[in-house]
Amino acid sequence: LTERIAGEGAAAWDIHYRALARQAAGDDITVLSVGDPDFDTPAPIIESAVESLRGGATHYPDVQGKLTLRQAISGDYRRQGLEVDAENVIVMAGAQCGLYAAAQCLLDPGDEVLVPEPGYVTYEAVLRATGAELVQVPLRGEADFRLEPAALEAAITPRTRAILLNSPHNPTGQLIDAAAWGAIAELCRRHDLWLISDEVYAELIFEGEHICPASLPGMAERSVVISSLSKSHAMTGWRLGWIVGPEPLIQHLTHLALCMLYGCPDFIQDAACAALEAPPAELDAMREIYRARRDAVCEALAESPTVAAIRPPAGMFLMVDIRATGLSSQAFADRLLDEEGISVLSGEAFGPSAAGFVRLSLTVEAERLSAASRRLAACAERARAELSPTPASEA
Ligand code: PMP
Ligand code: GLN
Repeated sequence: LTERIAGEGAAAWDIHYRALARQAAGDDITVLSVGDPDFDTPAPIIESAVESLRGGATHYPDVQGKLTLRQAISGDYRRQGLEVDAENVIVMAGAQCGLYAAAQCLLDPGDEVLVPEPGYVTYEAVLRATGAELVQVPLRGEADFRLEPAALEAAITPRTRAILLNSPHNPTGQLIDAAAWGAIAELCRRHDLWLISDEVYAELIFEGEHICPASLPGMAERSVVISSLSKSHAMTGWRLGWIVGPEPLIQHLTHLALCMLYGCPDFIQDAACAALEAPPAELDAMREIYRARRDAVCEALAESPTVAAIRPPAGMFLMVDIRATGLSSQAFADRLLDEEGISVLSGEAFGPSAAGFVRLSLTVEAERLSAASRRLAACAERARAELSPTPASEA
């Protein structure tokens, strides 16, 4: 088997699958270990897929994506103030497929790609599959894991070919602000780099704004914007995403799609049009629910003398600092599942700079999340007490 398909990504979810197995066996488990919305896909989207299937949309689709959907995607960007022609869009089977395809079309063996760490766990395998090298750029917990453009600049070498960024960010929920984007764009222009922008959480912003780097001066021709309906519309299982980029890249991707994917199912593309053209009320409602959940976790953990949450301005996740327990993030996550029936992911699975943190998903309702947060804090408290037991004389 080829060594190129390597990377530890999948191992990150071992604990998640253990939690699901216990749940299936009847245990009461609070699953906070995966970024899959607990909402149903809005009914009009489902209706649209069913109608399309009944209407005979069961044949080979357009490889680049249906024009109607590519126009709906353009329309969505236009509403955000970004002009995107339908010719600059290709439809992909989710952002994950988009990331993989974009990497294949942009990178050669020996190229270096700068990726902030912690970062989404599949990036390493996606990049390594091309023969390119991933160069990790640490995000510091002390800076709440905000991206510092100077750290990116320090990692640039003559072999750097691209920067892969994700804002809002998995696992930290941080946003890249306008000043940082300005500095990053300047680096890309000066060093002639591609910017791959993974924007799957762009609709889930509580405070601050989403900036698409393709909107910055001189960046449309070097930006590869990847997004999907998975998180925004609670559609993870539909596998519908897209890439926006310069036309030669989109043509290249279409050649790749021809031999790899042969397009995404027509009825799913019709449903995606319905999703993008629907009034935003349902999306707004889901966002408000995520915001309330974030607030519930932060409030529940605020009093803890042992753990501290980093309040995320966006996204579906929250990082909790458990360093005071003296346990590794994996050991703490294991203990939390064993003792409290709560599954979270180890921060270290996302990169060494997140050692001592765990990632908690905002994917159960607020009350349950509050209770789980208090139990997490209590579990951390017990671990800390074992670390430095109160001397008998003081007990
Ligand atoms: N990028 C990030 C940062 C993610 O968290 C995920 C998974 N949720 C993806 C890409 C893949 O998303 P999709 O379901 O659209 O393939
Ligand atoms: N991206 C989601 C997460 O980070 C889940 C994707 C998956 O289960 N592969 O949890």
